[in-house]
Amino acid sequence: MEVAAQLAEIRERVGSAARRAGRAPEEVEVMVVSKTFPAEVVREAVDAGQVMFGENKIQEALGKIPLLPSTLRWHLIGHMQRNKVRKALPAFEAIHSIDSVKLANYADGIASELGLSPRVYLQVNIGEEESKHGFSGEELDRALEALLQLERLEVTGLMCLPPAESDPRDSRRWFAALRALRDRLEARGGVPLPGLSMGMSGDFEIAIEEGATIVRVGSAVFGNRKSNKREV
Ligand SMILES: *Cc1c(COP(=O)(O)O)cnc(C)c1O
Repeated sequence: MEVAAQLAEIRERVGSAARRAGRAPEEVEVMVVSKTFPAEVVREAVDAGQVMFGENKIQEALGKIPLLPSTLRWHLIGHMQRNKVRKALPAFEAIHSIDSVKLANYADGIASELGLSPRVYLQVNIGEEESKHGFSGEELDRALEALLQLERLEVTGLMCLPPAESDPRDSRRWFAALRALRDRLEARGGVPLPGLSMGMSGDFEIAIEEGATIVRVGSAVFGNRKSNKREV
């Protein structure tokens, strides 16, 4: 199927999932994950009206962004290495992968130098997997206050990349857990954390039912990736 047709179908399904959950479809943003796909393929989605794109590798994104319209909104969804923060911050509208207090502090300092106020999501290792980056719930409980006091980073919410489940219905509990953690942190911190970045090609409808405000959809738009090694 064509990219435009896939995208139309996904928007349709996003709308239905939102309505099913008693939410307005506009409450859910669709990020199209363009990692591994070249600019000319991304352009097909742009031509179909897509504006927000996600990339997981800074180097790859920095090569692609100048080849595409400057009106696009790029989000970083993979781990941000310290030595690339200075290049990443000006390029991305939001960083979904703030995964430690150290990185947050460092990025805050660079943002201050650059005069930027980046929107960030705190990445939660919701399944507490060895192989994945992210805060545990307990770590966030301890670190939240400090993270909210950072001068430049605007903490908008939480992001997760839950354990891979063979049946997408089994992902529901992870999404519900992220939302519950968010609710708890909001109550404790006394600040709104409206953003929930969760759900991918195989399970975005379930994520929306559990409160996702932004879903990250790649292969359902562009087809399978040749190399789909995730950098998380
Ligand atoms: C690759 C990736 C996605 C998109 O995955 P699909 O299954 O292709 O939709 C979403 N989020 C992150 C963090 C990713 O690395």
